[in-house]
Amino acid sequence: MDLSIVIPLYNEDESLPELAAWIKRVMDENGYSYEIIMMDDGSTDDSWKVIEQLRSTNPNIKGIRFQRNYGKSAALNEGFKAAQGEVVITMDADMQDSPDEIPALCKMLLDEGFDMVSGWKKKRYDNTFTKNIPSKFFNAAARSMSKIKLHDFNCGLKAYKKKVVKSIEVYGEMHRYVPVLAKWAGFRKIGEKVVEHRPRKYGITKFGWSRFVNGFLDLMTIFFVGKFGKRPMHFFGLWGSLSFFAGFVISVYLAVSKFFFDKTGMTQRPMFFFAILAMIIGTQLFLAGFIGELISRNSTERNNYLIEEKTGL
Ligand code: UDP
Ligand code: MG
Repeated sequence: MDLSIVIPLYNEDESLPELAAWIKRVMDENGYSYEIIMMDDGSTDDSWKVIEQLRSTNPNIKGIRFQRNYGKSAALNEGFKAAQGEVVITMDADMQDSPDEIPALCKMLLDEGFDMVSGWKKKRYDNTFTKNIPSKFFNAAARSMSKIKLHDFNCGLKAYKKKVVKSIEVYGEMHRYVPVLAKWAGFRKIGEKVVEHRPRKYGITKFGWSRFVNGFLDLMTIFFVGKFGKRPMHFFGLWGSLSFFAGFVISVYLAVSKFFFDKTGMTQRPMFFFAILAMIIGTQLFLAGFIGELISRNSTERNNYLIEEKTGL
């Protein structure tokens, strides 16, 4: 199978028939063998009924339905598990992404050797103040933290080689950072392509203001976990030791000056409190690092390496 198209959807029953027909037209024109995996993320409208109807007319359409709403990341993750195509495309169900972009995205993967290609909504049809401007800041932060040169991390339209989606796990709300997850998994050829973006035709957006707060926190998490997730002691231990050491040196200095040079009492000097604080914080950081190490020792993922090739085995 050439292509798997994974579509996370939550209450999008009005869009689905048009979207499915459009995808089918593009697939037929290009002669792809394909599957459309519709991930119903616990919709409360008629989305699942529509999927079943569509499936009866087009057997390439497959559906997976969550028992409740778990979020876009969970939907993508489950869709990735099910995908069988050599190339996996993700797109939103609200028809803001255009299926006409699919052939060009595939070409970039297959001919230009990219592991994944992200869409870039250069001209956006969303609300300027609640989405477009915050999203610029957001992408700049993601770019500088991850060192991946993308303009639009959170575009719904993306294309992946099969091995990429099989090696990553999209959890929490990490759907905004799939390129970063791919990079941490060792895939370096990450490209982007300007794609057509369209206004939402039916239904309403499923994410409110919280997207920016959560998105920022997730960015910190991903950065931290990626760098120190497997060796927390190298972060906490280092700063903990430094802090403790500084506090200890100051205490010794205060004690020596009190007992040997008969200066004012230790507790009268502001530095005393600083020294105690530094030692307490240092101990706590060190302990955090130590507990982190114990947890990561027990994690099932601790030796989850991705092997690219083997020979002679
Ligand atoms: N979506 C989902 N689960 C959710 C929220 C959204 O599967 O909990 C889907 C939604 O149906 C759509 C895509 O994720 O297909 C993007 O959502 P939306 O268009 O609301 O986001 P926006 O374009 O406003 O960023
Ligand atoms: Mg949308």
